[in-house]
Amino acid sequence: MPIKVLDRDTIAQIAAGEVVERPASVVKELVENALDAGATQIRVEVKGGGVSLLRVTDNGGGIPAAEVPLAFERHATSKISGTADLENIASLGFRGEALPSIAAVAGVEVLTRSDNDAAGTFIQMEGGAVTRQASQARARGTTVTVRNLFRRVPARLKFLKSTPTENGHIANCVSQYALACPEVAFELAVEGKTTLRTSGRGRLIDAVIDVYGVATAGKMLAVKPPEGEFAAGPDAAGVTVTGMVGAPELGRSGRGHLSFFVNRRWVNSRLLTYAVEEAYRGLIMVGRHPVAVLNIALPPADVDVNIHPAKSEVKFRAESEVFRAVQRAVRQALVAQMPVPQVGETAAAYQAAPPRARASWMLPQPDRADISVPEAPPTLATSLPVLRVVGQVMNAYIVAEGPDGLYLIDQHAAHERIRYDKLRQQRAESRPQIQGLLEPGTLEVTPQQTQILGDCRESLAAYGFALEPFGERTYLVRAVPALLAGEARGDREERILASLACHGAVRSGQALSDAEMRALVRDLEQTANPHTCPHGRPTVIHLSAGQLEREFGRS
Ligand code: ADP
Ligand code: MG
Repeated sequence: MPIKVLDRDTIAQIAAGEVVERPASVVKELVENALDAGATQIRVEVKGGGVSLLRVTDNGGGIPAAEVPLAFERHATSKISGTADLENIASLGFRGEALPSIAAVAGVEVLTRSDNDAAGTFIQMEGGAVTRQASQARARGTTVTVRNLFRRVPARLKFLKSTPTENGHIANCVSQYALACPEVAFELAVEGKTTLRTSGRGRLIDAVIDVYGVATAGKMLAVKPPEGEFAAGPDAAGVTVTGMVGAPELGRSGRGHLSFFVNRRWVNSRLLTYAVEEAYRGLIMVGRHPVAVLNIALPPADVDVNIHPAKSEVKFRAESEVFRAVQRAVRQALVAQMPVPQVGETAAAYQAAPPRARASWMLPQPDRADISVPEAPPTLATSLPVLRVVGQVMNAYIVAEGPDGLYLIDQHAAHERIRYDKLRQQRAESRPQIQGLLEPGTLEVTPQQTQILGDCRESLAAYGFALEPFGERTYLVRAVPALLAGEARGDREERILASLACHGAVRSGQALSDAEMRALVRDLEQTANPHTCPHGRPTVIHLSAGQLEREFGRS
């Protein structure tokens, strides 16, 4: 094919493809525009996962009537005027690409009024061209309505996920900006139901309550509180880190609860993620991730926001200074507001990898120098022999004798394994034993979780959970699987099972009677995989007769 310049429509669609990946990208651009316009109230409405309808209404400065069509021209912006400004970007938008990109892949209507106009302006765009323009009354501010997203781009439509998933991305985006801007009152209505509403009173803790619920918010620690001992201004590199971080016990299984804002711009950043995780090192269980809501403020000239098509990544001029500032601020917050003396112990207790001595017991020991190898697989036979319970030590371990030596059983891990196998079996037979609750429990979810929960309520029902919507973001838990003693938490498939197995399992620290210990050991013998708990930690440690003899120097 000979080289030729593509037609306008194709060019517009290619450009749009970079900015508008999914409905949540549209929401992000429109919310950023509203914030740039100085809005103090922003309402987002969504229908059909954002594909049928997306509407963002703000009370910001509005677009002057004469400039409304211009706002849809590619690279038309009121936020910068030349290359010099690119070095010093203080607004969220600056490329003048969002409105034309959205108009290239959807039907768009804008109703806006600025302070200097007596009446508002209405404009309708289809296929990137103006189809209607008129005067219309409106209070100061802007409403942008986007319909039939990607109707003209079937390839994109095909790659979208389910409606609840897309709604979840949108809810997450609005939640993030609600956390970034506690002084702005946000409202999100999904399919006609309000799922998030923030007060806009300006306190971060209020926004955290609105997004994550009171239980999580109650365990958040302030980073650089305004009246604290480390209320100093920016550090040497001009970096100020503020926000809140979760107490280590709030550890989450994924990184979805890490929110970073750079000069209030919501960004993804491996550097910042790493800095926060470093600050939690030794305090949080291995494999768990903290909750954090942090704003990194620094001179705009020290951060390049022009490196990513959706502006969701940035580059810091002084990366290591930023890294250190974040790590230090978070660590200080954790140390200042937590009981410190146990740090060393906690670190050891939280390590998921078995400590040396334990590992050595699980290994064949041809040579004592070998004992430091931590990850050699346990050599226990695939099933447990019949064991005689001798007793309990530290209210945590059962001591038992087998045909070949001594066995130590972690009572919690063992019980987890037993419950996990039972749950799996019931799940396979699809008849969970259900325990109705006399008084329903309540479950508070984030706006994003609301969407996901809506999607998986049926499969949760198959596990024996009866959930009933109650208010905007609360569910009543009417029934739980019978094996679950009064606690409700869940994820998907295996993780649901593992979590169910853990909750309600015998705890370490619990004294057990002889009969209880015998029952536990009998049940463990019956499981298909008795040597590890569902999380992969060992349930049993074996010290063979031969090893004992060697340890005591008898052989
Ligand atoms: P950018 O935000 O990069 O300038 P956009 O395409 O998002 O580009 O918007 C183009 C222009 O339209 C903006 O520079 C701004 O002047 C105007 N605009 C868009 N949305 C709003 C809004 N909600 N309130 C006021 N002005 C807006
Ligand atoms: Mg913009």
